[in-house]
Amino acid sequence: METSKSKPHAVIVSSPGVGRLVCDLELGNRLVTDHSFQVTFFVVLDCQATAGESQLIQSAEAQKLLHIVVLPPVDLSGQVEPSTPIFTRLASLMREIRPTLRSAFSALKPTPSALVVDILGTPALEVAEEFHMLKYVFVTSAWPLASMLYAPILDKEVEGEYVDQKEPIRLPGCMSVLPEDLADPMLNRTKPEYNSFLQVALEMRKSDGVLVNTWEDLDAATLTAMREEESYGSAPVYAVGPLIRVAGPAASRSKLLDWLDEQPVESVLYISFGSLGVLSAQQITELAWGLELSRQKFMWVLRPPTPSKKKDDASADRSRGDENALDHLPDGFLERTHSLGLVVTQWAPQSEILGHRSTGGFLSHCGWNSSLESILSGVPMIAWPLYAEQKMNATKLAEEVGVAVRPKIAPTKGVVGREEIEILVRKVMAEPEGKAMRARVKELKISGEKALTPGGSSFNAVSQLAKQMHQSEASAVSH
Ligand code: UDP
Repeated sequence: METSKSKPHAVIVSSPGVGRLVCDLELGNRLVTDHSFQVTFFVVLDCQATAGESQLIQSAEAQKLLHIVVLPPVDLSGQVEPSTPIFTRLASLMREIRPTLRSAFSALKPTPSALVVDILGTPALEVAEEFHMLKYVFVTSAWPLASMLYAPILDKEVEGEYVDQKEPIRLPGCMSVLPEDLADPMLNRTKPEYNSFLQVALEMRKSDGVLVNTWEDLDAATLTAMREEESYGSAPVYAVGPLIRVAGPAASRSKLLDWLDEQPVESVLYISFGSLGVLSAQQITELAWGLELSRQKFMWVLRPPTPSKKKDDASADRSRGDENALDHLPDGFLERTHSLGLVVTQWAPQSEILGHRSTGGFLSHCGWNSSLESILSGVPMIAWPLYAEQKMNATKLAEEVGVAVRPKIAPTKGVVGREEIEILVRKVMAEPEGKAMRARVKELKISGEKALTPGGSSFNAVSQLAKQMHQSEASAVSH
């Protein structure tokens, strides 16, 4: 048994947003339970915690595995306009938090040997350098990571906008990317978000390692390319996943699970667009009709639509939480589908829902946490990407891995009609194609679980990190 003195002490700084908090916490838990780390976990919030963030923080505090510190909010007034895009706003926030981190780090005992930040937290790596700590960046999926590490090269090689290129964008050793599938900040090179994105890529390339929430079998070619091709930089790439929130004991059992208990095995399509995804009013109408026409059972997490003046922005404005989303459903929809489905407007216990035996499909925005939760629950998907790197995730899941179907038209480009939705829903829930995808996703579930067990590829990758930290502690002591 290792003594607490020999435990590597890592600090994780989690930037605002449920999507990042979920996997950052899980990384911390794994470091503690499987690899005997001591972990101090700093939570950065954008003003105040959302419902999802509060629930995650509370359950992590109850678990007592991590030393959790919620940092005081940073006042950004006067620095960013209310209309500033979220990527730029959060980048400013993560720069402004540095003085707070400096004083917090100097109070930590024993002195931490490594800092792990997520994709928005790279400004904090500067603080790690001041404290002679190893610097790691933890990111979601491998293929978008490759495109990001390669972005500084593309920036020099490609003239004009990427979206105007006639050919797919070539990434050495990896699947090429359709220009319109690139992550949002790469879609317009004249905007400040593009430069912030390049800056993050350069900081990642200078880190001591990039941790990716995947495993060797799921992303073999991409991982090999990033390790072997010089053009991706020299930061070592560690596949440490699949790290997803493990459904824990809840204070009270959700009524949604009681409803699922009453449904036949693998009969329910779960529909959710993550913590921020929203549809247009017209798309909500078409989705409702498509579900009704399919006659399949469903559970739909519905948020109010995008206001029409901001039609292009598929990520929600937090201030609209009070609006009644149900008002946007077609007249009589709830009555007509009473025996088929449930529409939910509050925060849903997604891991538990996906893990329930009655859930048989997931219409998802392809956020990487949601995608992994679906895979690890053995549930095939309808891929409905909306923002960030989700279009690349959707392409990978549908075309390379074979666990998802998707609409012909990208949901960010136009409205997917009710007839196509009906076909997609029936395909996943009731037809042989769905059955084949379910078999494939169940194989992947086993391979993902295996990667995390002792001797598995992700387990070994984290052991390697632990070794690196021990070595760095030892050399700090000897100097
Ligand atoms: N989530 C949830 N309930 C909801 C909506 C989302 O538990 O009603 C969780 C979901 O299980 C996932 C996370 O929030 O763990 C969303 O992360 P993801 O990467 O899928 O998408 P993002 O919200 O970052 O776009």
